[in-house]
Amino acid sequence: MSDKKDKDMPDADDLQKMIKDMFGKMGSGVTMPFPGFSHDDGEDAPESTDFDDVEMKSADAVFDFNYKPRDIKAHLDRFVIRQDEAKKALSIAVCDHYNHAKYMRGLEQEHGKIPENIEYQKQNVIVVGPTGVGKTYLIKHIAEMIGVPFVKADATKFSETGYVGGDVDDLVRELVQKADGDMELAEYGIIYIDEVDKLASSSTGMGRDVSGRGVQTTLLKLMEETEVAARNPNDMKSQMMAMMDMQSGRGGGKDTINTRHILFIVSGAFSGLEKVIKKRLRSGQIGFGAEVSESPIDEELFSQINTQDFIDFGFEAEFIGRLPVRVVCEKLESKDFVNIMKNSEGSLLRQYEREFAAYGIQAKFEDSAIERIAERAESENTGARALMTVCEGLLRDFKFELPGTAVSELTIDSDLIEKRETVLEKYRELGKRVDVAKAREEADLYAREFHEKHSIHIHFSDEAVALLGEEAAEQARSVLQLCQQRFKDYQFGLKLIEKNTGVGEFDLEKEAVLDADKFLSERVVQSYNTDTDTAQTDCTSENESE
Ligand code: ADP
Repeated sequence: MSDKKDKDMPDADDLQKMIKDMFGKMGSGVTMPFPGFSHDDGEDAPESTDFDDVEMKSADAVFDFNYKPRDIKAHLDRFVIRQDEAKKALSIAVCDHYNHAKYMRGLEQEHGKIPENIEYQKQNVIVVGPTGVGKTYLIKHIAEMIGVPFVKADATKFSETGYVGGDVDDLVRELVQKADGDMELAEYGIIYIDEVDKLASSSTGMGRDVSGRGVQTTLLKLMEETEVAARNPNDMKSQMMAMMDMQSGRGGGKDTINTRHILFIVSGAFSGLEKVIKKRLRSGQIGFGAEVSESPIDEELFSQINTQDFIDFGFEAEFIGRLPVRVVCEKLESKDFVNIMKNSEGSLLRQYEREFAAYGIQAKFEDSAIERIAERAESENTGARALMTVCEGLLRDFKFELPGTAVSELTIDSDLIEKRETVLEKYRELGKRVDVAKAREEADLYAREFHEKHSIHIHFSDEAVALLGEEAAEQARSVLQLCQQRFKDYQFGLKLIEKNTGVGEFDLEKEAVLDADKFLSERVVQSYNTDTDTAQTDCTSENESE
């Protein structure tokens, strides 16, 4: 019977081919089982590329964890401006978390199993703060430093059941992907869920109610400890891969991922939470219903927050209870943006400089411009993300028009920002002028080469050089290349003229560029006409000497 079954079952190679064909037909969009957890959606797309660059360590290296909170903060200080309390709290939480993992692993290795009597409350973190202030950036750099896989998802993208959006378990499976299939390392990864405030129930009129509560419960399980199937039971591709592994005898490894040591960090803007806190604080003094102004939470107000405030905001007590570390990331102001541009190692300005440098243009941001950009970014209200928006708007035309002209320096100053069109026009003109200078350089170089090879001096007139420059630009080649092709056999004609006239220096006018053959043949004919006597004399004397 087993024989028959084996005969009916496709072998591993057949299966592999079937799967390849099937997914080939379906297109590349099917690689991720559900869209919600893919990094490459929407505004987070550029960052996800960064995450993929994170250099993974092996699980063993993670257990070599020897950082102190101060080390982690110092690393974060290189990239992230402000957010000092958040940096401190995150550094401590991460150190405690991974030290504990190291300790447990040590015990496990010593005793062969994880001791049951060790109490530990996981340091999952909730980060409160508006968009674009460095929440993701902080976590990305922490994961990068420690070398653990890191997955970011948006709470609004998944549903309790997994049918509408994604299945929360997919987050854990994605960690395995990020760890290049290393399940052990994935068990020590970091899962970051943004927009978690949208899961609050609508008692305050801000949340999603039933389904939000359901997602909280599902997340709760992950945050505590659960085993997640390594293959998504609803995903055909994973299931077929599992079958393939079984067929080829590779199925012997772990088939579940334990979430015990996965660090969960959740965040959100929590707009309205400040009202909840202020209301509670004021209730003792001036009574309920007092007008409370709406302003983002700062560190001072946040230091007063308690669990009840989160519950009043619309969270389940159990859910918020599993997030003991609470930090705030403050709104950034114009002076912070200046600081980010000037001092963060990940400054956007370095990116722009690199982008212009790729076209041979040295871009230089003056302080006056940095301040203006910061001011404009502040009014956009999207945090440091606005820096990109502002720079993009300001520099797009320059990035489009200047490459290919010979502008080699671009000074980005307040003038460029305030009188963009005028400055752009100035660079356009400069581009043309400098082009001519460059064309002259190359034409002279060609003339020198020509002299070295043929002992004939040629000199291009200014008009000829300007024409060469234009033509070379049109054909996207260098003036030197153009000359090499256009005046390829000129030495023969010129030598003849030299012989006829005794003159070994030639001016090449714009006519030579427009029609090189015509120009040369006219000059050759002319050389016979003007110097007939000499030529004849030469001939005669040659004949005589014979
Ligand atoms: P969010 O708080 O919404 O998660 P991000 O961390 O994704 O925002 O910030 C977007 C980008 O803005 C980052 O990739 C980074 O380049 C820049 N940025 C944001 N905040 C800071 C900061 N405090 N210091 C330096 N750069 C920052």
